Amino acid sequence: MTEALRPRPALNLDNAFYFDALNEGRLVAQQCGDCAEFRHPPVPCCPRCQSFDWQASELSEIGELVTYTVLHHPVMPPFDVGYIVGLVEFAEGVRIVMNLEIDEADVSIGMDVEVRAHSYDPELTLPAGFLPGTPSKVLSSTESGGSVPGNDTKEA
Ligand SMILES: [Zn+2]
Repeated sequence: MTEALRPRPALNLDNAFYFDALNEGRLVAQQCGDCAEFRHPPVPCCPRCQSFDWQASELSEIGELVTYTVLHHPVMPPFDVGYIVGLVEFAEGVRIVMNLEIDEADVSIGMDVEVRAHSYDPELTLPAGFLPGTPSKVLSSTESGGSVPGNDTKEA
């Protein structure tokens, strides 16, 4: 039986650097080469100064949870019932949507979350939020299709 996997990101020339960095265990965002403003999601031109010059710069490991939602319906593999999607804001000024790998009872708006490159299956690494200092959940092979050693290494 074929196992259901999470949807793949739609890669293009503008966003490939972001997913390449995640595959290397790093969370980055575009930073303008002229005015130093961070931006996300990736776009070719700085919305502040219109420069096309940019580099990929690493973000803080800790962000603030701006808001979140708990999804109960529809239940569709490979997502678990009650999975949490959060909007995390970084000190650099960007916000990124990600899953929170935190028990719902421990989640609250305004809390700190530790953001790590998290392997959901052997070919998909995405940012995910964890309680600061806690180890990453180790998914069983039946849940994840196997884990990728070498990621989830950004321990506090
Ligand atoms: Zn700029």
